[in-house]
Amino acid sequence: MTLKNPAGVNDLLPDAAHKQQLLVRAAFRVFGCYGYRYMETPMFEKTEVFTRGIGEATDVVGKEIYCVYPMNSIAGVSPDDRSALEGLALRPENTAGIARAVVQHNLVPPGAFQAKLWYAGSMFRHERQQKGRYREFRQIGAECIGATEPSADAEVILMLLHYFEALGIPRSHMTLKINSMGDEACRPAYRRAVQDYILARESEFCPECQRRATGNPLRAFDCKSEACQAALSAAPRITEYLCEECASQYAQVKQLLDSSGLAYEEDPRLVRGFDYYTRTVFEVQVDLGLGAQNAIGGGGRYDRLLQEYGAKPTPSLGFAVGLERIVMVLEALGTAAALPPAAQVFVAAVDEEARSQAFELAQKLREAGVSVELDHQARSLKSQFKVADKADVGFVVLLGPDERAKGSYTLRNMTDGTQQELTLDELLQLLTER
Ligand code: AMP
Repeated sequence: MTLKNPAGVNDLLPDAAHKQQLLVRAAFRVFGCYGYRYMETPMFEKTEVFTRGIGEATDVVGKEIYCVYPMNSIAGVSPDDRSALEGLALRPENTAGIARAVVQHNLVPPGAFQAKLWYAGSMFRHERQQKGRYREFRQIGAECIGATEPSADAEVILMLLHYFEALGIPRSHMTLKINSMGDEACRPAYRRAVQDYILARESEFCPECQRRATGNPLRAFDCKSEACQAALSAAPRITEYLCEECASQYAQVKQLLDSSGLAYEEDPRLVRGFDYYTRTVFEVQVDLGLGAQNAIGGGGRYDRLLQEYGAKPTPSLGFAVGLERIVMVLEALGTAAALPPAAQVFVAAVDEEARSQAFELAQKLREAGVSVELDHQARSLKSQFKVADKADVGFVVLLGPDERAKGSYTLRNMTDGTQQELTLDELLQLLTER
């Protein structure tokens, strides 16, 4: 029986991997313009890193976390008793891990300049698999740690849109949604108001939202059920509950976006799925390629998150974008990069004797920086040409008895079919210049 990948966990074959790699390279370029540095944190952490930061009552932590156990530690331990084992979990997102690492390594001690960090890698969530929603997916994210001013919010949002545009997603296909979620001063009253609102008309909501009403009522805004959305139509709006400081901060962010000429929509129902968000939150949605899962990136402020890991107050913010979804959008636009040929040159041996010479030449060319492929399957010359043609190489170098006799190399241009006889130096020069 052949083995297959688990549901929602996909192979990145060379074409898909190439497309994602280009997104990473673009991030190096664009984020570099804003002073960001690349870093990595482990793929799994103590579960507490996620429960403390993201919140026990969120879907991500409550339902979607994958726990990690060494095989020998679970032998004979019933699932109910596994909480006694060291709790490790695959990361469902990377902001919590970055915050943990920043605090652990004291990257932003009190009074230090803001740290700007970005990452790229796999995240894992036990979600119901559908188009654009997977159990392993890749994100690129950026975190601006230790910045209080609304200018940081505006800068992060501008960088996100700059990045999407640099990838070739036109503004006309994107909608930037923003909201303020308030802070610990004003959000509790809002949360209670939403809770009371749901409980007062409980029967209109799905069982999931009825459950959410007590644990995390704001999540109801994200419910996909039309009935729940209709029932929420007259729900209290966060904007009416913002305290003076949050309202002023939100107004300044909008003013900065206005003066940068960046169009946005205010969406008082935009509540992002993690508890750590405070004040500004944002999301970028697209109108093609994705269907229901139309968000390609989002983020917000998390002014209290680093305190969860023992730091002094360190207001911060960031965002994450989903690579699979961006690639789907670029494919829908018809602008996704094609996988380039694996090699520029194929070295073909006309007879058996030429094989070792072909092997040596290939190595010489590679060391000079030319990408070269050659046959390792004892194929005939005709078959080598077929392979070279299929591999879309620009040139074939032919080595056979004639070339041996003359000490020359025949170079065939595969685009126009012309051939020329060259010395080794001429060959090297011509191919390296290309
Ligand atoms: P989040 O970490 O939930 O704020 O999501 C940030 C971005 O990651 C989203 O806008 C999506 O582009 C992407 N994303 C989140 N969850 C998934 C998933 N299960 N599968 C694929 N992409 C995802």
